[in-house]
Amino acid sequence: MVSLGPENVRIGAHAADKADAIRQAGAILVDGGYIQPGYVDSMMRRETVTATYLGNGIAIPHGLPQDRELIQHTGLSVLQLPYGVEWNPGEVVYLVVGIAARSDEHIGVLQKLTDVLEDEATVMRLARTQDVNEIAAALDPARSAEAPAAPAPSPPILGAGQRVDVEVTGGTGLHARPASVFVSLAKQFNSDIRVSHAGKTANGKSMVSMLRLGVERGGIISITADGPDAAKALQTLREAVETGLGEEDEAAHAAPEPAVQVGRPESFPPEAAPDEPGLIRGVAAAPGIAIAPLHQLRKQADEVLDQHAVDAAAEHSDFDHAVDRAGAELEELHRTVGRRAGEMEARIFAAHREFLEDPDLVDAVHHRIDGGESAAFAWRETIDERANDLAALSDPLLAGRANDLRDVGARVMRLLVRRNEAEATTLPDHEIILVAEDLTPSDTASLDPDLVKGILTALGGPNSHTAILARSLDIPAVVGAGHQVLELASGVTAVLDGSRGTVLPDPDAERLERARQAQHGAGQRRAVVLEAAYRPAITVDGHRVEIAANIGAVPEAERAVNAGGEAVGLLRTEFLFQDRTDPPSEEEQYEAYRAMAESLGGLPLIVRTLDAGGDKPLPYISMAHEDNPFLGQRGIRLSFSMPDLFRSQLRAILRAASHGEIKIMFPMITSVHEFRRGRALVEEVRREVDGPNVDVGIMVEVPSSAVMADLLAREVDFFSIGTNDLTQYTLAMDRGHPALAREADGLHPAVLRMVDQTVRAAHGEGKWVGVCGNLAADPAAAPILIGLDVDELSVGVPNIPALKAQIREMAYEDAKELARRALACSAASEVRALTGEAA
Ligand code: PEP
Ligand code: MG
Repeated sequence: MVSLGPENVRIGAHAADKADAIRQAGAILVDGGYIQPGYVDSMMRRETVTATYLGNGIAIPHGLPQDRELIQHTGLSVLQLPYGVEWNPGEVVYLVVGIAARSDEHIGVLQKLTDVLEDEATVMRLARTQDVNEIAAALDPARSAEAPAAPAPSPPILGAGQRVDVEVTGGTGLHARPASVFVSLAKQFNSDIRVSHAGKTANGKSMVSMLRLGVERGGIISITADGPDAAKALQTLREAVETGLGEEDEAAHAAPEPAVQVGRPESFPPEAAPDEPGLIRGVAAAPGIAIAPLHQLRKQADEVLDQHAVDAAAEHSDFDHAVDRAGAELEELHRTVGRRAGEMEARIFAAHREFLEDPDLVDAVHHRIDGGESAAFAWRETIDERANDLAALSDPLLAGRANDLRDVGARVMRLLVRRNEAEATTLPDHEIILVAEDLTPSDTASLDPDLVKGILTALGGPNSHTAILARSLDIPAVVGAGHQVLELASGVTAVLDGSRGTVLPDPDAERLERARQAQHGAGQRRAVVLEAAYRPAITVDGHRVEIAANIGAVPEAERAVNAGGEAVGLLRTEFLFQDRTDPPSEEEQYEAYRAMAESLGGLPLIVRTLDAGGDKPLPYISMAHEDNPFLGQRGIRLSFSMPDLFRSQLRAILRAASHGEIKIMFPMITSVHEFRRGRALVEEVRREVDGPNVDVGIMVEVPSSAVMADLLAREVDFFSIGTNDLTQYTLAMDRGHPALAREADGLHPAVLRMVDQTVRAAHGEGKWVGVCGNLAADPAAAPILIGLDVDELSVGVPNIPALKAQIREMAYEDAKELARRALACSAASEVRALTGEAA
């Protein structure tokens, strides 16, 4: 147990700045023989990647994990600064607690500090006391009866049979992907590896067993290893957990740009009012029109399986064979889906394969076969049992993995009972619109787009695997349409409009004909629209709207130009920071920004500074658990808390600005004060790198910035409205919530009124306004946004040609009238009805 003696407490100190404070706290540890002097540099470096300000006047500087060998003994120091020192802008620290911990003892320290942290009076007393013992007594984790409660003491040097306690920080807890990373690492060691959490213990080499622990983000797990390579195993696993287990930003997928849409005329029925009899509304998940008979996917009823088998050896071999075959199928799926939809989406199949290699699962089945059961029966029972356990977990993400396990279960079962894939999904051999409650990733990936013309599901959201895979397969899809769709009769012809999220079962002859024409026209129109992509978007009555691209990768800049983009209205720089263990260097960023600016050949490139944190964690930034990450450290707030990282991004952008027309945009600005602070930093860095003057603008994506737009407009160079976040924060509806997908509609009049307010404020000051949220790509929304006098619409590259074509067909005067009426509506559905009438 780490302890804090009075000899390690310095009272009445003064520090010129944060670095000086860290140096002094470090010097106490050096003097006490706890660390080598190099560790103090490591403590400094840590500040560039992690916030060590705990809150309430306390900071906990500590070194980077890779520098642990510079620690000679675990120890703590406290520097009392009665007059405080500014740690981060606006954050004053009175107690600097230097930590040198070789393993996980700092968790005990943190717990202790957290107790103190909640009590402001105690902090202020400790900040002024002249009694070192009082500080030592209050902060020494070893002196508290109750501390540390959760993590049991663990020795500083790891060894065989020992354990480490570590916090699961990455992503959303130990769900499938991180668990599979953990399990793969654990399997590299010969030692027996066990993981405990909240009174449950799992085999660290078993995916199912790990998932059943139900560890949520911020949970502490105890890892024990027993065997010849225990020390190495513990070290590797601890570091892997600490660095997020390769967890990526799932939220990067939370609001995908809508897939290519070909404008209003493709949608069917063009003049449909939302209350048209029989029209079912769901969530638009993959664009396009499908006309085909509905087919209810009835999963093969569980066949009656023989429970007992006479030849155990044959059952063992059948089972092994089925598992091998299933593994090969999953490998193939991983490859093909990776090619079509990207590695991130394909990784779910790698996680599925991990289930198959799970020793606990496989051993359990063999054990049952030894007991006289047939392979199929043993497998089904084992999967059911494990999946039910998972489904019962309180964390919805982990509970959702039960579906993945059942998906794997069905794959192996099909092979065991020797059904082929087509039989398994019992699809007819003619064109259909597939109707299902939900589809598993395997179901969707194995659909034949020649026969499955459309997908309609009762559940799911636009960001579900079904939706993402359907888009990659180019199958029009409507999801989240409710259980009513399961009542529709198979064989009945329907028209599914994946751009609008509607389905019309059993259309009359006239409507069917119109749908056919719309579908036919869509193909032709697509070609025409592409050909006209370079023409400007000018309404029939002469109003021009700039159409820009949202991009998030270097090659997309060129694609944006080729698609007719007139600027990049939003470069999401997160792509440079994700999927890696260290932040990108200034040089790497500079090269990327410069390459994009050059590809644009003088067209404007709006570079949004890093919008990470909160729901988009980065593995190399350790952040405290947040109950509401969307309301936590994200966007500009996070950048301000990591000044070195922020500066290096600004340096890179401003250096690249000499090679093109670059503008800088800050995400999540909530006040004038924040903008001023960001702009001042831009100016400081610009002088440092001798860069050109650039426009500096902000995303308007939280209600405060829309409401304060008049004051902000005096200072910013431009606004870009992020309707994805503005909608979620205005309506208090999570943007990725599948059940709320339909209601979290950017056409809600409250959101439109904020757009209106922002535009009027900006124009009053002679500034321009763009919209770069997904709403800009919604064909129903474009006329309203244009009618509200938005100057620029920035959309995904595939949407550019259609949007331009749509604008060329509309009249600005009509758009203004439509916008005026939309502002007077009382619900998004009313606004949508208006756009239906107006079409
Ligand atoms: C938005 O919030 O609308 C936006 C464009 O930003 P992001 O989707 O990257 O959060
Ligand atoms: Mg946003």
